[in-house]
Amino acid sequence: MIELPAGRPLEGQKVLVIGIANEHSIAFGCARAFRRLGADLAITYLNEKAKPYVEPLARELEAGILAPCDVSVPGQLEAVFDTVRQTWGRLDVALHSIAFAPKADLQGRLVDSSAEGFAVAMDVSCHSFIRMARLAEPLMADGGTLLAMSYLGAVRVVPNYNLMGPVKAALESSVRYLAHELGPRQIRVHAVSPGPLKTRAASGIKDFDHLLAEAAEKAPVGELVDIDDVGVTTAYLATPYARRLTGTTVYVDGGLSIMA
Ligand code: NAD
Repeated sequence: MIELPAGRPLEGQKVLVIGIANEHSIAFGCARAFRRLGADLAITYLNEKAKPYVEPLARELEAGILAPCDVSVPGQLEAVFDTVRQTWGRLDVALHSIAFAPKADLQGRLVDSSAEGFAVAMDVSCHSFIRMARLAEPLMADGGTLLAMSYLGAVRVVPNYNLMGPVKAALESSVRYLAHELGPRQIRVHAVSPGPLKTRAASGIKDFDHLLAEAAEKAPVGELVDIDDVGVTTAYLATPYARRLTGTTVYVDGGLSIMA
C-alpha cells in the first residue's frame, strides 16, 4: 500500500519559490497553496525595486527565507541555494515561475528576432531552470520536485506570443530531459501550463485582453483560471499523491488546450 500523509500533505516540506513580483503573480498563488498544504517557504524578489512589493507577501506566507534573485546576475541564484542549504540543509521543492524577453523581440515577429534578444529570453526563461535543477540536486538527497511554468504557445501557434513560443518549447523539452536524468534520484520534474492570466508579465504581450476574452469563451469550463487554481494543481504535483508522475506538462486551463 502507498503510504499517504495523515495530515497536510506537504507538512514541513522546504519549498523555494522564484517568481513573485506582486499579488497577481502565478508564483504567489502557488506559494499560497504550498503554505496551505503545510510547506515552509523561501521566497525571492528580483531586485531592490521589487522588494517592497514582495516583502509583505513573504510575511503573509510566513516565509523563513527572503532573498534577492535576478537569474541574469552571476552568482545570485547560487547565493539563494547557499542560503537554503545553510538555513534548512535540504530542499524538497523548487518552483521556477519567471520569464523575460526584451520588448522589441517579444512584440516583433519571430522571424525578425535578434540573436541577443533570443539568447536573453532563453537564458532567463529556460536555462535558469536547468541551473536551478543543478543547484537543487545535491539538496534533494531524499528526492524532490522541480516545477516550471510554461504556456500553450510552446506547442501551438498563439498569435502575438512570438519568440516566447520556441523558448517555452525548449523549457518543456528540458523538463522531459531533466525528468529522465534526475528520475533515478527520485527527483520529479514538471511543467505546468496555465491558461492566460492577467499578470505583469502578460501585459507585455500584444492584444492580451483579446486572448483572455477568447480563452473564457472557448474553454469548456466557460471561465478563466485564477492563480489559486494554478497554485493548487502545482502544489499537488509535489505531494505523494503525484509520486509516479514526472516529465509531463500539466494544463491548468479549464480545457482550453483541447479545443481547435
Ligand atoms: P509575473 O510578472 O507576476 O511574474 C514574472 C516573474 O518573472 C516576476 O516575478 C519577475 O521578477 C520574474 N523575472 C523576470 N526576469 C527575471 C530575472 N532575470 N531573474 C529572476 N526573475 C525574473 O507574471 P506571471 O504571469 O505570474 O509569470 C510567471 C510565469 O508564468 C512565467 O514563466 C510566464 O511565462 C508563465 N505563464 C504566464 C501566463 C499568463 O497568462 N500570465 C500563462 C502561462 C504561463
